[in-house]
Amino acid sequence: MKIKIMDGHCDALTKLYMNPKLQFGIEEQELDVSYPRLKQAGVKVQCFAIYLSDSIQQPTFDHILQMVDVFHRQVVQHPGMHFIQSEADWRIVEAGDLIGAILTLEGVDALAGNMTHLRILQHLGVRSIGLTWNYANWAADGVMEPRKGGFTRKGKLMLKELETMGIIVDVSHLSTAAFWELVEIYSKPFIASHSNAQKVCPHPRNLSDDQIKAIIQCKGNIGITFVPYFVDSAIMTVPISALLKHIDYVCALGGEQHIGFGSDFDGIEQWIKGLRHAGQYGNIIEALCKNYRESQVEAFLYGNWRNFMLQNLPK
Ligand SMILES: [Zn+2]
Repeated sequence: MKIKIMDGHCDALTKLYMNPKLQFGIEEQELDVSYPRLKQAGVKVQCFAIYLSDSIQQPTFDHILQMVDVFHRQVVQHPGMHFIQSEADWRIVEAGDLIGAILTLEGVDALAGNMTHLRILQHLGVRSIGLTWNYANWAADGVMEPRKGGFTRKGKLMLKELETMGIIVDVSHLSTAAFWELVEIYSKPFIASHSNAQKVCPHPRNLSDDQIKAIIQCKGNIGITFVPYFVDSAIMTVPISALLKHIDYVCALGGEQHIGFGSDFDGIEQWIKGLRHAGQYGNIIEALCKNYRESQVEAFLYGNWRNFMLQNLPK
């Protein structure tokens, strides 16, 4: 089997931004996602999130631009990488040995409701936007915000703008109320880039059965994530087999063609046993191959994300 992998979410850019000494091009102990590790595992496409760390008191658009700069200097300029902004870019990556990088934004906080800034991000190649992190921002409430609100008026306007612009909407971290408002007013397929199944592991960051079904219904995609306490909250050392329970569960709800991975590497401080960094993706492949047909394994690792992206990236 020729292994190809796409990963729907990592926070390597945040680490590279916060610690300018780190280098994407070499194997760094501190960096779960680096070029050598992606290459080692056969990751073909990696999403890189612009996430402004909690330690930044007043997040501004300038911080976002600084992270776009880091993305270009560290990731895009690496000779083994290719910036995926369109379907054509995906095909370039697929035809050769390059690894594709998709630029995403996690939380619109720093846009402060400015639609020009939103459009500038599109010009800069941002292709997917997670609306919130865990807490409320000007657009919507995150899933950990105690008041459990939905979208603001401005947030709904932004959603319409995203729909027109063709930027992929990501609902990971979004409050339940906002999720269902989105289903009402948003007509394009959307994703949960790094969330698991709530029935398997009852964490608010995970998706309920109805949410999973809604994502399947809209022809979206779910990235099963490696955050240990979103996989199994009852045990300290979480094995890879626990990850497979989420895959089984989403498949049982009809999601076999709408599931992939979104590791959250570099956004986590605890790891699943055998999944310490991107270079260890092979351990999942081994576990998947024992339980699924080859065609299913290929779809989970790459094919489902590929189908989604080719449908939803700009032509
Ligand atoms: Zn996240």
